[in-house]
Amino acid sequence: MPAPRLDIDLDKVHHNARTLVEALGARGISVTGVTKATLGSPEVARTLLRAGVRALGDSRVENLEGLRRAGVMAPMVLVRSPPPSQVDRVVRSADVSVNTELAVVRALSGAARASGRPHGIVLMVELGDLREGLLPADLEGAAREVLRLPGLALRGIGTNLACQSGVVPDVGTMAELSALAGAVEAALGVTLDVVSGGNSANLGWALSGADPGRVDDLRLGEAVLLGCEPLHRRPLDGLHTDAFTLVAEVIEAKVKPTRPWGDVAETAFGPLPARPEAAGAFEGGGGARGGDRDTGPRVIVALGHQDTDPFGLVPPPGVTVLGASSDHLVLDPGPRPLAVGAEVPFQVGYGALVRAMTSPFVTRAFTGGVRPAGATASGATAT
Ligand SMILES: *Cc1c(COP(=O)(O)O)cnc(C)c1O
Repeated sequence: MPAPRLDIDLDKVHHNARTLVEALGARGISVTGVTKATLGSPEVARTLLRAGVRALGDSRVENLEGLRRAGVMAPMVLVRSPPPSQVDRVVRSADVSVNTELAVVRALSGAARASGRPHGIVLMVELGDLREGLLPADLEGAAREVLRLPGLALRGIGTNLACQSGVVPDVGTMAELSALAGAVEAALGVTLDVVSGGNSANLGWALSGADPGRVDDLRLGEAVLLGCEPLHRRPLDGLHTDAFTLVAEVIEAKVKPTRPWGDVAETAFGPLPARPEAAGAFEGGGGARGGDRDTGPRVIVALGHQDTDPFGLVPPPGVTVLGASSDHLVLDPGPRPLAVGAEVPFQVGYGALVRAMTSPFVTRAFTGGVRPAGATASGATAT
């Protein structure tokens, strides 16, 4: 099979999503399944829907349009404030968008009226992480304006923590969000159906047994896809962390001196990283033990910055990533030899996954799940 390639196990994605849908459902919280890290993959989206997510979320209108074109039927939420130049596309593909700017909300109102398709608004409120959000003092006024504008429905409020400054969603911030929901409802005489507490970083709070208050939705990407929470990047109990594997192919395997020679300046991607491996400190393998070695095995796989985040990869046991440029990833293969043509599987972190899904050079092979239309007998589809 071609490489580099992402092997995507839809059964593992399904298990993760189903486990979280059930655990959160028991607390009255539904899940919006966020597909952006998969470039809006219809296969992943269908898997999340089968697992019981209430809606699909993506930050890019292009991805939502792709899901619609693929025939995915679900409520769809744009989880980033719409760029003004895209409001017409947003109202055609998204049922709901998150918003923080009245200028954008007004443009959405015009676009919704022109298209004849009502558009739902979730107002995002800033609770300290300093990414998107209206300041709490401005929320009520913004909600009042949404109610006044034709073509729009005020669906609810939400917040996003952790992504920008690492602010932890906790009892305090979630109680503040609940209180804001109550205050908007009381002041404007409306009922908010959606109080969206945040992303995968909220799971610690949501599963702790704390009172969810008014929070009835979380927007989950990383936890569902990679089985991991983003605050400490710890695996979540009972979830698979290996639903996605990035496979690359060995194009050079040699024994070489462990240190570069000649006059050394910057590399293709800036100064040489201060990693002990990068300085050539090989351990293990055959030959001399205990102390620096003059030569060691060195393997290149056809993978680089154009395909992924090379330092967001977890290599197989015994293998060390020594460095990367646009198209070459240099490895210490460790005790097991790797021959030219061998495939090396890497586990991916969130950043590595996003970039691998976005790279035109990385193909995809799906296993498990419901066979996508047009899949081969083995269940693999390369795109
Ligand atoms: C990306 C994103 C999410 C999903 O985040 P994960 O950490 O992957 O769960 C949720 N909400 C917003 C606004 C986002 O941008």
